[in-house]
Amino acid sequence: MKYFNLHTHQFTNQSDVLELVNQYPKDFDASIPFYSIGIHPWYIEETRLDEDLKIIEEKLQTKNCLAIGECGLDKRIEVPFDLQVSVFEKQLELAQKFKKPVVIHCVAAFQEVMAIKKKMKISVPMIIHGFSKNNQLAEQLIGAGFYLSFGKYLLKNPDLKTVFQNVPNNRFFLETDIMEESIKQVYEIACEYKGLKLKELEGIISSNYRNVFE
Ligand SMILES: [Zn+2]
Repeated sequence: MKYFNLHTHQFTNQSDVLELVNQYPKDFDASIPFYSIGIHPWYIEETRLDEDLKIIEEKLQTKNCLAIGECGLDKRIEVPFDLQVSVFEKQLELAQKFKKPVVIHCVAAFQEVMAIKKKMKISVPMIIHGFSKNNQLAEQLIGAGFYLSFGKYLLKNPDLKTVFQNVPNNRFFLETDIMEESIKQVYEIACEYKGLKLKELEGIISSNYRNVFE
């Protein structure tokens, strides 16, 4: 692996990129080599919740399933927050049970996510994907044991530069999520911001990958 993409919705099949492709239980694609699987808060369907959790539980026991997610909490949507919390907690229980890391979608609910991690004593790695907030929140999350993954906003929001620079090298990942730009472009800007050579950045991400996924 030269590049690792922590979160994407599209499998691009490049030999030098390991992609953690997001999958939803109801349209699982067995041709994707490495994936995460989970119930996104946007797409909670109570009528198929048990079925979805069963599929997730099954996949978590296979080696191609590297993580659970994306799952999490989102305060800017209509789905009742209590329901989101309950679905998130069920998935965290599975992560704990099968010792798999968690890729987290979090919008305006960071304090709640931290509180749940603490309350449930979650010991598997938890990665906040698409981080775009400030230094103070980044430090708080790092302090609480989270990893942060950067992508779109690193390319598009110059304010994120200092936030990214301050994140310890052993606590971040890079991703493309749903954007057009490639993971290579994200690595490029990450190198520039951190003052690293590409080889050095590859080493850092590979080492983080081993700590979290192996
Ligand atoms: Zn996503």
